[in-house]
Amino acid sequence: MSDFSRLTRRKFLVSATTTAAGAVLLKGCTQPSTPDAATQSPAPSPVTANDTPEVTKATLGYLPIVESAALIIAKEKGFFTKYGMTDVTVVKQANWAGARDNVVIGSGGGGIDGGQWQMPMPHLITEGIITNGNKVPMSVLLQLNTNGNAIAIASLHEGKGLGLKINDPEYIKQFQSKNGRLFKAAHTFPNVNQDFWIRYWFAAGGVDPDKDIELLAVPPAETVQGMRNGTMDAFSTGDPWPYRIVTDKIGFLSALTTEMWPYHPEEYFALRTDWIEANPKATKALLKGIMEAQQWCDDAANRDELVKIVSGRSFFNSPAEVLTPPYKGNYAMGDGKSALNDLKFGPLYWKDPNGDSISYPFKSHDLWFLTETLRWGFHKTAITDLDVAQKLIDKVNREDIWREAATEAGFTADIPASTSRGVETFFDGVKFDPENPQRYLDDLKIKAA
Ligand code: CA
Repeated sequence: MSDFSRLTRRKFLVSATTTAAGAVLLKGCTQPSTPDAATQSPAPSPVTANDTPEVTKATLGYLPIVESAALIIAKEKGFFTKYGMTDVTVVKQANWAGARDNVVIGSGGGGIDGGQWQMPMPHLITEGIITNGNKVPMSVLLQLNTNGNAIAIASLHEGKGLGLKINDPEYIKQFQSKNGRLFKAAHTFPNVNQDFWIRYWFAAGGVDPDKDIELLAVPPAETVQGMRNGTMDAFSTGDPWPYRIVTDKIGFLSALTTEMWPYHPEEYFALRTDWIEANPKATKALLKGIMEAQQWCDDAANRDELVKIVSGRSFFNSPAEVLTPPYKGNYAMGDGKSALNDLKFGPLYWKDPNGDSISYPFKSHDLWFLTETLRWGFHKTAITDLDVAQKLIDKVNREDIWREAATEAGFTADIPASTSRGVETFFDGVKFDPENPQRYLDDLKIKAA
């Protein structure tokens, strides 16, 4: 067993009484709750008069992908309730545009107070960049997960050397002259994680994603259909899609994102800033519940139960068999490549095998997302340079609230010393030094700027 598993196991034992209470609550959510269910709870609430939340209700959006697991577990295992947030609703969003529109409306108008986001959606919504100029200040509070994403390639391209590295970029660049159409790749929403991962992969392999291919936002089901019928070539996506693409023989995985950038920043928890300002204690109570859920999710012993819960009809509504392999870190890659099989390759939530916090929202990671935004020339008129990016991060990233919540909940051993995780190294040898993002931009060979 790795040190990582031992660490999370110890945490699990500490919170074992809570888990027992959570099992009761879980039963209660499929049946009308009874007075018995409440009195059976052996976990004393840690909420004192001093940190009683201002409200017990919050409405949080999520998408049915592994990134949202901690939100669902916090709800279903009773971790929100434990911290006094007894009326949290987690609401499935149809897609990223739907989540964006719902947070602009807010829960008062039938939308959401916040929830799960790709990056840098909270920054873009704050500035009105993806909301038709409607500025809705948001605050990034916690990172939900790392890993769990991949670049999938249609079966048509088997045997062409499209692995972590692209052996022959000309194969992709000359695709149009030989096939009458550009090599076509999809992600689910423009200018955020999935778009960045596939752009990074193409560019590292010598393919310019803006000039040599067609890259666009397409819904997952449509993308998979396109890969099946030969009209779509590549897909940047999250679990459980990569596993399904390989097992359904639609395609293969050229790279897991964790192979491109080990324990890379992935999706985040963010709320409307007006909600946080009105409910500072409730905000921290939500964070404590999610933090405890993240620790629970990382315990290998809980993964079967995790799959059972999230695969349910009211959440991901997908067969448990499809979610189990990624949650065991088991990835069949296809195209003759050996399978990967280690928990460290799958989705992780609280702490990575290097001992770094996953949950804590490092400002250095926000900076990478906004530096990459500059690299590709997204939102040029609003995000003009690194100074603007840094100011936006200082406004939107509220790692200070994460620290307060973690301190109050007693997770002090896992609070990082710095707001930076330090220099990041990618699979192609490129380094991102948060102290010198301009150097990173200058060194990149393929970029829009
Ligand atoms: Ca993702």
